[in-house]
Amino acid sequence: MTKFTTQTVGYPHIGKDRELKRALEGYWKGALDAETLLATFRQVEEEGWRAQHDAGIDYIGVGDATLYDAVLDWSLRLGLVPQRFAALEGLERLFAMARGVEGIPALEMTKWFDTNYHYLVPEIEAGAQPVADFEDFLTAVRRAQALMGEHAVPIVLGPITFLRLARLEVPFDVILAQLLPLYVELLGALKALGVPEVQVHEPALILPDAADFRSQTERAMAALAAVGLPINLVIPFDDVGESFAWIVALPVAGLTLDFTRGETTALLERHGWSADKFLAAGIVDGRNVWRLRGAEALPRLQSLATPTVSRLSAACSLQHVPYSAARETTLPAPLRGVLAFAEEKLHELVVLRDVLAGTAVWDDSPWADFRAFAPEDAALRARLVGLGASDFSRAEGYTGRRTQQVALPAFPLTTIGSFPQTAAVRQLRSRFKRGELSEAAYYAGVDAWIAYTIGVQEGLEFDVLVHGEFERSDMVEYFAEKLTGFAFTRHGWVQSFGSRYVRPPIIYADVTRPAPMTVREFEVAQSFTHKPVKGMLTGPVTILNWSFPRTDVPRREVAFQLALALRDEIADLERAGARIIQVDEPALREGLPFKVDRRAVYLTWAVDGFRLATAGAASATQIHTHMCYAEFGDVLPAIERLDADVISLENARSDDATLRALAEYGYAREVGPGVYDIHSPVIPGKDFILEKLRTFRLHLADVQLWVNPDCGLKTRAWEEVLPALRVMVAAVQQLRAEL
Ligand code: GLN
Ligand code: ZN
Repeated sequence: MTKFTTQTVGYPHIGKDRELKRALEGYWKGALDAETLLATFRQVEEEGWRAQHDAGIDYIGVGDATLYDAVLDWSLRLGLVPQRFAALEGLERLFAMARGVEGIPALEMTKWFDTNYHYLVPEIEAGAQPVADFEDFLTAVRRAQALMGEHAVPIVLGPITFLRLARLEVPFDVILAQLLPLYVELLGALKALGVPEVQVHEPALILPDAADFRSQTERAMAALAAVGLPINLVIPFDDVGESFAWIVALPVAGLTLDFTRGETTALLERHGWSADKFLAAGIVDGRNVWRLRGAEALPRLQSLATPTVSRLSAACSLQHVPYSAARETTLPAPLRGVLAFAEEKLHELVVLRDVLAGTAVWDDSPWADFRAFAPEDAALRARLVGLGASDFSRAEGYTGRRTQQVALPAFPLTTIGSFPQTAAVRQLRSRFKRGELSEAAYYAGVDAWIAYTIGVQEGLEFDVLVHGEFERSDMVEYFAEKLTGFAFTRHGWVQSFGSRYVRPPIIYADVTRPAPMTVREFEVAQSFTHKPVKGMLTGPVTILNWSFPRTDVPRREVAFQLALALRDEIADLERAGARIIQVDEPALREGLPFKVDRRAVYLTWAVDGFRLATAGAASATQIHTHMCYAEFGDVLPAIERLDADVISLENARSDDATLRALAEYGYAREVGPGVYDIHSPVIPGKDFILEKLRTFRLHLADVQLWVNPDCGLKTRAWEEVLPALRVMVAAVQQLRAEL
């Protein structure tokens, strides 16, 4: 029997009741002073420490809590503040970097590895002079020590990951050499505080090109190790692949590796482990909400040659799951029994330790209860088994279909789907949800907004109209609520970025569609106009990627279940008269695995999912898709294989990179590259849009081009949308006249 210890590598820090969000928004509005904001922050942080300490965790990661974003915190601690913020200080500077202020744009924000968290990209300008300012961090560590003594282990974002995520105007090696003395100073200060070790987080070591940074990583770890404070090198989110051998040879006291994804177990068996290092096995999955299945996890742990593994760990920070499943008392007990949020995962670590020590047994019986509660849908399973190649292909190829589809003017004008979600619209929905409005009154309210929006588009002379999505709180939640197999939490918030938290639905059982989901609103919209209205759906891969999916069924299969539901919806929309149907897949790209050899597998089933959803459409039905976020140069073959007739894309912020990539690839279908950035309140000028259109025409043929904004308009106000769309239409009219 082996004696294990337990550790965490990060914890939720938004407050169980979103206290931090409230405090931040109050502070930004001027309703709350800085002292109160910071007091709330510290209280939320301390509650997290106490939960971990009370659960009996031995090594508790601290210092990860943040007012806005932890990567931004490290930019500030290392004194890497771009010039445009130099005149600001304190909280004003922090929030300016996070959110921008008049005339000073914020740092760029992007996804944190393959989580749904977004961090602020450090900007390291030419001539940057790093200056250490670790006071807030060291103070947090001291407070944690006061509360839980030697259990407090500081979490430091490692220099390699920090720099790899940064936008660098200076050579990597130069800035690394400047940063290392600061890191050494920090570790020296932590050593003086008497912490037992320091967690250096280096998730960038899972990236496929980690080996290109081998010498820098070795140099950095050697410099840090020289301080004499034991280093726990924490590498979450995947295995380290072919870099395994040199990474485990780094001069650190121990490593924390991810055993929930990738091939870490196999790598360990192949390469072995050096006896002088501890290995913390990240066995509790911080990325899903499910109770660990002992029958699967325990044999895996026992097979690792002991005493190789000496610690049990969460595989990544628990900030990516909500606080507590126990609070979700409105969920059916058999479902609640198999959910594990952050608190439950702490408990799992401790119980696993006892099981491995032989003083407890793991109980998988909640899973048996759950299976009885959520049986498979036999009809659906039979339908999936019966699928053949023809179900994934439209009856005719693109060119054959195109002539049968709607005829439109050159440079067809359209939007991406949503129109402003004003307070009035949100109130309409929430009053209906609370039972204060009858269904008839609610529909009348929604329909009035649809009528108004159709009128606006008619008046502006758009070619393809949308209904505006007023009935949707969120493009995933709306569909999830109409499908079977989804559960919704009341308190299950996780941070997306800053004060923006999301509550992803949980897919717990087979997904089916009991009734049409969007046909009513489509029919209402189409009844107000002779122009074509787009049917508007969220694609199967996006619904999957923005939910907490089940882990007992392959993701591919869940995607196909969702696809069948959408396929039936498309058939119903066609029957209702839809000639154009858009299936949004903004999250397709973000499910892409890091490891090159796993990418093809993902893209195959993800694209198949989209095809299964759309291939039943008649040749005369024009299928659109929409994707946000640039960076899909590397998935162009997959985009082509979607076999969509028209694709609209985010393009404004990427400097036409998306467009150029498509053109270079030789993409021959119709494309609507966004002509302006809807994330900015700035109203574009006609010349700006004309210039965009002229650029598009250099890359793509006129017959390929559609004109639309970057994305949906839901976050904008009508005062912004009306003039912006008017300008967009005027630009197209001028272009048409010129030709
Ligand atoms: N149809 C959606 C909308 O307009 C698309 C949103 C998205 O791409 N994220 O809101
Ligand atoms: Zn979008």
